[in-house]
Parts: sequence; C-alpha cells; structure tokens
Amino acid sequence: MSLDHAHVQTRLVHAGTPELKQGAGPVNVPVVRTSTVRFADTAAQARMNAQRAAGERVATYGRHGLDTHQALEQAVASLEGAYRTLLAPSGLAAITMVLLATLAPGDHALVADSVYSPVRKVDKSLLRRYGIELEYFSPGQDALEPLIRPNTRLLYVESPSSLLFEVLDLPALAATARRHGLLVATDNTWSGGLYYQPLALGAHISIQAATKYLAGHSDVMMGVVSVDSAELARRIGATHDALGLSVGADDAYLTLRGLRTLDVRLARHQANALTVAQYLASHEDVARVFHPALPQDPGHALWRRDFSGASGLVSFAFDNPDPTAAARFIDSLRYFSIGASWGGYESLALEAAPERLSEHSLWKQLPDKQSVVRLHIGLEHTQDLIGDLDRAFATTRGALRRSA
Ligand SMILES: *Cc1c(COP(=O)(O)O)cnc(C)c1O
Repeated sequence: MSLDHAHVQTRLVHAGTPELKQGAGPVNVPVVRTSTVRFADTAAQARMNAQRAAGERVATYGRHGLDTHQALEQAVASLEGAYRTLLAPSGLAAITMVLLATLAPGDHALVADSVYSPVRKVDKSLLRRYGIELEYFSPGQDALEPLIRPNTRLLYVESPSSLLFEVLDLPALAATARRHGLLVATDNTWSGGLYYQPLALGAHISIQAATKYLAGHSDVMMGVVSVDSAELARRIGATHDALGLSVGADDAYLTLRGLRTLDVRLARHQANALTVAQYLASHEDVARVFHPALPQDPGHALWRRDFSGASGLVSFAFDNPDPTAAARFIDSLRYFSIGASWGGYESLALEAAPERLSEHSLWKQLPDKQSVVRLHIGLEHTQDLIGDLDRAFATTRGALRRSA
C-alpha cells in the first residue's frame, strides 16, 4: 500500500502492516523471534549476504531483526520522514550508537548544553578515552559559527530540552552546520516524532527514546535512529552491527503497538498538560512555569513556528527558596508516581535538582535558583490532577510554616 501522500494519522495506523499472504492475514505483524535465519539453499544465503553487504535491509541472522523489527522500523521511518530507521535497546544506546558512528579519534562535536544529561556520561566514560572531544555550548543566536573548528564533525542538539524545555532554532543551527560540512543529529523524544520533523528542518539524524511516547505504556525500553540517506544508514548500520546491538521481537511488537495510538494519546497529553501548566502559572507558590505552549515561555515563538503540538511535560520552580520544598511537595502527591522516564499513560513527578540543571544556560540566567519539579501529565482527568497538586501545595506550605 502506498502511503506517500497520506496524513500522519493514517501512516501511524498503516505503515508496516503485514501483507496478506494467500489471501488473508492478521491486522498486526506477528512476533517473529529467532536467532538463526534459515535459508532455502546456499545460493539464497549467498544472495542475501550480498544484498546485506550492498546496504539493503535484509536479515541474515537474528540480531538483524526480522518481520516485527522491520515493521517497527518502517512505521517510525514513515513518522519521521526518514530514509531508514534503526533500532537500539534503549534511547541512550541509540544516542551512543550515533556518536560512535559519526565521530572518530581527533574529532570534535558541538553539543547543546541542555541535552539529556546522560549524554555527558557517554562523553566522560567512553568518547574521551577514544580521543573524541564534545564541547557544550549555549545554543542562542549566532553561537555556533565561532565554535566550529577544522575537526568539528557533528552538531548534536535536543529541542525542547528534557528539564526546562528550551526550544532551539534548529533550521538556523542546521543551516550553519551544513555550511561547514557538519552532520546534524537531534534527540526528538519530546515530540514523539508527531509534532516535530527534524529531518525536514535540516537535521540528518533524528533519535528518539521510543521508551517514552512511541511505546507509551511504561513497559518497554527502546531506541530508534532515523536517518535521511543511504550513506548514513550504512555508516550507522555498520556501528550497530559492530556493537552487536539487538532488541527482542516482543519489545519491537510492544513499541509498534504503542505507536499505532500515538496521535490520540499525545493529543490528550497535550491538552491535559496545557491545563495543568495554566493552573501552575496562576498559582501563588509558583515562581515560573516551563512549558513552550504557554505564551509567556521564552521558547513559545519558535515552538509555534516549528512544532505542530506539545507534549505532556511541564516543569515549575517554587516561589520559595527552601531547598526542601520540591521534595515535600512531591511526597504529598497521590496520583503522581515518583520516577524517572515519562511518556506512559500515567502522571509522574521528579525533582530536577540544581546540580542537574547547573550546566543549562537557561538555568544560569534565572535570578533565583529555586527547586524545580518536573511533571509528566498523564491521561487522568485534569480535575483530579489539579486537586492533587492543590493539596500538595497546601501541605507543603503548611509544613514550611510549621518548620519556620
Ligand atoms: C529517556 C530519554 C533518553 C534515554 O532513553 P532510554 O530509553 O531511557 O535510554 C534520551 N533522550 C531523552 C530526551 C529522554 O527523555
């Protein structure tokens, strides 16, 4: 079925759907688990090995992933407008794979200072030992050009960022990077690929922690890397092979199952989060709300220009210098679980400690370094969520007063 001109909602439903064999078949792709791939004869084996060597998406061994994996790859590639998508066992593994595939000893890469913080762990514990240098920069207007060196190979960004949701001007950054021959990679987890199209805005590589919105049910770890060319598919594919990365067919199935409902889930996450963000913005105990769909957010204009929607993440800073306020607040919530990750159907709360924020340029610009709470707004009714938040504010205030 050609989906070339179909809307994204239609592609989410139909991309990667199995063909009918002998006149009938299931709606969903089967879970094809295997290690060994069997060949009809040695000629077939030789032919498929040659196809694989030439860069075709052919599985000659279980690690390459068979029908279930391929269906997920096709659906994500359709979503991201990509030439091809590769799977990794987690979002972080996907990021590491891209950095290892695009950088070599002696190379330099420019990285937005607000990126998902474990990227710094990859840098310190792995890339540095191989003579690769990452340099973090504040990605404002005209910031990039002066930092590009003869050995700079990659620009790596994330928009909006994970904790304070800084929105970057990707078209401008990518245009500068491309003028200097850099590759441009971006982490697109926040939008689920539905509300943001980095490959159309100048990136060569779009990465997602499919663990979050694509899978959408907090029950699977998965990373996806979408690329815009056969050359990048070959390069990143070779690193994928060399690292022996492999994901289980059951996990690929669960991720594809989640992806089918991405549009309806994200629409509700978006609406609920905006309602909660507006509530927070009007609350006397809140100094500042971070959510690009709010008109007062510094990223709002860029978000409106480049994005077609927002996700369920909202952060806020307390109007209270007490460093224990965030922890007290979170401990008094009922409907919000305490935990990292996000993108499932449930609401979550997490304290974003100043140590984690200290490297963000937006954080450095804030006058008071209050505690920040990051909320993921799930699919519950917003009246219940706001009632819960209201109670937590009242409890926190009471506790603070008592302890004063
Ligand atoms: C969660 C997350 C990752 C890492 O994904 P995992 O699947 O948890 O390894 C990467 N980038 C962003 C923006 C994330 O939120």
